[in-house]
Amino acid sequence: MVPPALTEKLDPHRVSMRVTDAARSRCVALQGTVGKAASCGIYAQRPSVCRDVVPAWEFGAASAQCDKARIGHGMKPLTAADWLDPGVVPQSA
Ligand code: SF4
Repeated sequence: MVPPALTEKLDPHRVSMRVTDAARSRCVALQGTVGKAASCGIYAQRPSVCRDVVPAWEFGAASAQCDKARIGHGMKPLTAADWLDPGVVPQSA
């Protein structure tokens, strides 16, 4: 469950995450610097809307929402190559 203190009332039946920067809609739970190193401070408790948006290509599929968010913060959309594990050494034949 999302910590109630991090939410604000939208209407009698819904809440949303509070924001710390209304102009950029920066979620109060976001930690770090977008474009450098950022993460969700309540990842295991994040709301369902956040669980529904997976990073583009993490599981082999594009994500228009992910692309839009990254472009909105001045970053390039992710590609499948972004998920290659640099720690994996290819097996020789
Ligand atoms: S995943 Fe959701 S709750 Fe977590 S920082 Fe992003 S918008 Fe906020």
